[in-house]
Amino acid sequence: MSVENATASQAAPARAVTMEKLVNLCKRRGLVFPTSDIYGGLGSTFDYGPLGVELKRNVKEAWWRETVQRRTDVLGLDSAILQHPRTWEASGHLQNFTDPLVDCKNCKQRFRADHIEGDRCPECGGELTEARQFNLMFKTFMGPLEDTANTVYLRPETAQGIFANFANVIDTQRVKLPFGIAQTGKSFRNEITPGNFIFRTREFEQMEMEFFVKPEPAEEQRWFDYWVGERFNWYVRYGIASDRLRLRPHAQDELSHYSRGTTDVEYLYPFGWGELEGIARRGSFDLDQHAKFSGKDLTYFDEEAKARYRPWVIEPAAGVDRAMLAFMLDAYDEDVVENETRIVLRLDPRLAPVKAAIYPLLRKGGHPEKAQAVRELIARYFTTAYDQAGSIGRRYRRQDEIGTPFGVTIDHQTMEDDTVTLRDRDTTQQERVPIGTLVATLVDRIGWYREA
Ligand code: ATP
Repeated sequence: MSVENATASQAAPARAVTMEKLVNLCKRRGLVFPTSDIYGGLGSTFDYGPLGVELKRNVKEAWWRETVQRRTDVLGLDSAILQHPRTWEASGHLQNFTDPLVDCKNCKQRFRADHIEGDRCPECGGELTEARQFNLMFKTFMGPLEDTANTVYLRPETAQGIFANFANVIDTQRVKLPFGIAQTGKSFRNEITPGNFIFRTREFEQMEMEFFVKPEPAEEQRWFDYWVGERFNWYVRYGIASDRLRLRPHAQDELSHYSRGTTDVEYLYPFGWGELEGIARRGSFDLDQHAKFSGKDLTYFDEEAKARYRPWVIEPAAGVDRAMLAFMLDAYDEDVVENETRIVLRLDPRLAPVKAAIYPLLRKGGHPEKAQAVRELIARYFTTAYDQAGSIGRRYRRQDEIGTPFGVTIDHQTMEDDTVTLRDRDTTQQERVPIGTLVATLVDRIGWYREA
């Protein structure tokens, strides 16, 4: 598949959104709250509110449907966060998953050496210490004894759970190369400089897939190109403007310890271009290492070639939180409706936290009981909101702000002919739809069941 626009120009198209506006909207409308708000927060940790959790679930669902459900060559998995500590020796994370740290001798602040320019403190201009390597894995203890023998780590990536289950999967499922194993889940990294809202946090969620191919360079190249294209286009299909996305191959000196080549999908955040997802060629590094450390046979038997080997891996690794951030930023818009500026999140209807809001027009003879019945009908299929307070214009504005794609009003005519009006968030156009076909209309327009 071709990449729709991989060579975007660097010029930023004009947009209404700023990080501050988005952060405020997220807090005000219950999308994202600072964690432990009542205790003054816990630096760069966030909770997803009633609307945020819906959006997040939809992002994961959009990924799962296309990466697992709709394919015949990818299977799912859900492995534990705590794994045998040997995992991280084998994977190289104990030794290599480090960032170089420098401290300011004057103001005592700490920075990532590779994030600062020059050799002075970016805050106060003070002298910096020599760089030290700092491991990013969170440590804890398993069981009641807090000693080194019981040290375990919170996983810094979900990928290792997939490699550790490679033999389990091929022994229990009928798989043939090429095939993938995918999972979503929490990962933890003790980042030195978290920030930019949910872009970089210490606890976050990933969507990762290990795609195993024959250990041949041409096969590796073919699938690498395929997945780079697929993943770029996924963001475009779910609403991100392709000129705010680009592909960036890593330079040799920035490759992770396991990678033979990585290309990032980057998004143009208000603070500049930043990674959304990385597609890496991990070769057989991980399976080789786990075979060595565990002493287990992690080979695949190729029936046609009558040969055993450890396959090579292409890994698209995405972040749920970063994807959410990019989807919200790209959807954020301000326009004028009935002489009033409104904020509207033009989210793809599949991602929108609430799909339809139901409004009885009490002063126009719309009965709340009827409206509740319509709500219950739609709620069998989709997340809904119900609002009977205030003017209809204000009610629309409240839903526009959180990206609700459809509004359903119940008025006196509903009571007579069983029709409702259906309002479109983006065009603000309204049409009359029979209640009998309302769900089918919504199913069609929301588009979950259409081809991607
Ligand atoms: P970065 O260079 O931004 O630190 P990375 O290259 O270390 O990211 P990967 O190890 O490739 O990231 O992880 C895959 C994906 O997981 C990233 O593209 C990102 O979407 C997500 N991710 C990684 N670290 C974080 C974090 N601290 N907070 C939120 N998401 C993260």
